[in-house]
Amino acid sequence: ASASTPAKTEGGEGNKTEEEDDKDDKAAQSLLNKLIRSNLVNTTNQVEVLQRDPNSPLYSVKSFEELRLKPQLLQGVYAMGFNRPSKIQENALPLMLAEPPQNLIAQSQSGTGKTAAFVLAMLSHVDPNNKFPQCLCVSPTYELALQTGKVIEQMGKYYSEVKLVYAVRGNKLQRGTQLQEQVVIGTPGTMLDWCLKFKFIDPKKIKVFVLDEADVMIATQGHQDQSIRIQRMLPKQCQMLLFSATFEETVWNFAQRIVPDPNIIKLKREEETLDTIKQYYVLCNSKEEKFMALCNIYGAITIAQAMIFCHTRKTAGWLAGELSREGHQVALLSGEMQVEQRAAVIDRFREGKEKVLVTTNVCARGIDVEQVSVVINFDLPVDRDGNPDNETYLHRIGRTGRFGKRGLAINMVDSKFSMNVLNKIQDHFNKNIEKLDTDDLDEIE
Ligand code: ADP
Repeated sequence: ASASTPAKTEGGEGNKTEEEDDKDDKAAQSLLNKLIRSNLVNTTNQVEVLQRDPNSPLYSVKSFEELRLKPQLLQGVYAMGFNRPSKIQENALPLMLAEPPQNLIAQSQSGTGKTAAFVLAMLSHVDPNNKFPQCLCVSPTYELALQTGKVIEQMGKYYSEVKLVYAVRGNKLQRGTQLQEQVVIGTPGTMLDWCLKFKFIDPKKIKVFVLDEADVMIATQGHQDQSIRIQRMLPKQCQMLLFSATFEETVWNFAQRIVPDPNIIKLKREEETLDTIKQYYVLCNSKEEKFMALCNIYGAITIAQAMIFCHTRKTAGWLAGELSREGHQVALLSGEMQVEQRAAVIDRFREGKEKVLVTTNVCARGIDVEQVSVVINFDLPVDRDGNPDNETYLHRIGRTGRFGKRGLAINMVDSKFSMNVLNKIQDHFNKNIEKLDTDDLDEIE
């Protein structure tokens, strides 16, 4: 499968509503996840399957051969380095490839193999001899559509008769064009225009409709409506597939409008836990003292890699500067960076090129770096109203103690206010956070 990549045209940035900001944030997070992800996420949880027809046998496969894929596709799968189906693919693939086609709503966290699964389903269902669109895939943003497009191209590398086209803003086709490409991937607005207004696509000939990143999609009211309008133009027997990383009530309501008679597959995310983590706090009076304490800690124990969280970009920038002056190799992740820049910083950190990553909260969600042994809260996590943010605390720290390793978390406290936050966090998790004297650090090793 191949396609030329369209140029991006910038829309009107600037006066964004909160809804748009929220959506940008989710879409950026999702894109970042894709850019930094090179492997499947580890999960030990079991997949939950709710079949539309509970009497039909439940199929799951342990190998790609069992799926009887076209040889060109199997070759593509192996060329991508996949040896066996992921947890979610074990159940989703047989359902999606069944005859007659089955509808599916699938939810699992980012990195569990959803994209690869629906790409394989789309490529399996197209007839390359038919030179018209047969599969539509809608994504929330241009960048996300492009990422999925890349997977289609990789997986379809040995199936070059199948062509792909991007229905995104900026890809302007001549009026009267009849698309020859079998797979169309794009954003809901352009996709709807191509079906309805310009008639580049005949929706009645579509066999597979995929709606990806439903949770990001619904953050924009317009996208919901456009997706539903596209869906209504498709034939009844068209296979409808919907994917989401999270599954709140709103996502579920939307999913049911897009996918009639669905089979449902859910994979719970791995629980984060503080059980394997030693938590400490350090009492200081100012940010300078916090920095001194940090230096003492570095002087006393061997730290393979550490992540340091700050509340503001300004503090993060300052701290990164101070640490560099002390001779540390520091990486800085900051909110004003483009998603691609952030991905590059995270990649370098993962490769161990820098040993310390200083970041504000927004930038670091979803990063998990196995060799991070120490997390330092230079500022404790609080929400917009200044209340303790327990969820973020768990998320920051829970990642150090993964895969049976022990982690270390150090919290910097510099006021009555932050002491109060710390106490509330301690109570919430009912786990002791011990005081650490940074002039006498024998105890922590
Ligand atoms: P999701 O769509 O759930 O975020 P992806 O399909 O993008 O997940 O997969 C996450 C990562 O794992 C990608 O780098 C992808 O190439 C890889 N991957 C997907 N399926 C498999 C598999 N069966 N075996 C090995 N790697 C896989």
